Amino acid sequence: MESVGVYISVPFCKAKCSFCNFASDVFGAGRMEGYVARLVEEIREARVRAARMGAVLPERVDTVYFGGGTPSLLEPKMMKEIFAALRGEFVVDAGAEITLECAPGQLADATLAELLGQGLNRVSLGVQSFVDAEAAAVGRLHTLAMCLGEMERLRAAGVLDLGVDLIAGLPLQTESSWRYSIAEAVGTGSAHVSVYMLEVDGESRLGRESLAGGTRYGAGALPADEAVADWYLEACAALGSAGVMQYEISNFARQGFRSRHNVKYWRREAYVGFGLDAHSMLRMEDGVVRFQNGDELDGYMGGGVLPLLGARVEPVFVRGDEAFEEAVFLGLRMNEGVSLAGLRREFGLGLVSGLTDALVELVEAGLVGMEGERVWLTGRGRLLSNEVFERVLVAA
Ligand code: SF4
Repeated sequence: MESVGVYISVPFCKAKCSFCNFASDVFGAGRMEGYVARLVEEIREARVRAARMGAVLPERVDTVYFGGGTPSLLEPKMMKEIFAALRGEFVVDAGAEITLECAPGQLADATLAELLGQGLNRVSLGVQSFVDAEAAAVGRLHTLAMCLGEMERLRAAGVLDLGVDLIAGLPLQTESSWRYSIAEAVGTGSAHVSVYMLEVDGESRLGRESLAGGTRYGAGALPADEAVADWYLEACAALGSAGVMQYEISNFARQGFRSRHNVKYWRREAYVGFGLDAHSMLRMEDGVVRFQNGDELDGYMGGGVLPLLGARVEPVFVRGDEAFEEAVFLGLRMNEGVSLAGLRREFGLGLVSGLTDALVELVEAGLVGMEGERVWLTGRGRLLSNEVFERVLVAA
């Protein structure tokens, strides 16, 4: 039976990190209560909304992902309400992967207990750096000791699928401090590691300081891009040799611990997102439809779900050539790459043949590997993935 992954966006944080450009901010408990009421309303109307677009919203849910923001800040009763709404509209598998993004030190015992009762089995910790000075420089509120304590507590509570997020390119970071963070990720036995290269966004406080000058957010202490690229490649190698195998450009896991939810994005499997700025992709008879909620909290909170449709980014129907392009560039993000035979089966001979010249060029440039029917990005190709995707799209 077809299933869908559910994403719940919780755009609240205790403090705003200097590099953050997400639709998240610091708000009080009252705002959270109202937000959860809107989420519940949106979940209840999901089926009507999908039907209006002619999309299929499967009943069965096999992954639930709480992202943000800092969803671990929600109170137990709010989590209970969200799960009640989900279970009212969907059938959540007994073995569903249920993930919570969590800032170390920001998950109350009572919230954890409620979530465990609801089937929580995976936690992704927003560590970014295990070096206290680096974490503090970007406004994170945790220390190494807090991270280690949090991991111990979660394991003791039975959550063995523990992941950490790390960022290469933070202010103050050096080659040796980056190695230290990677070594800690391995040493703590994390089942999953995500490695992102910091892209300084002009809208973040760090970005504004980079452009205008200043010393408050450490913009003057940002490592050079070339160094960050080297650190990324070094992390891929170090994690791999420790058994935390890369399976996507930014994601690494020990055997059996890939994020089932995130893999849906790259395999173009159905997912539905609720909440601020949440994205969805659902199947239709002849393709898929992608849609997303707006990223203004006041807009999201105002009015019923259906009237709000007009305020959303318009749904995009993806069929034919566009669907093929998506399948190629999303599939290439994964280490297992794409199967040309599979693409031929799904999209026909013509589109795949049109890719051949581009693939040969990319193989010669060392950006893509090819063996038989399988095509994947090399290490350098992952670093220059945007260039590869552009070349592939032009060809398709
Ligand atoms: S915790 Fe995450 S979402 Fe919140 S401000 Fe920091 S980076 Fe942004």
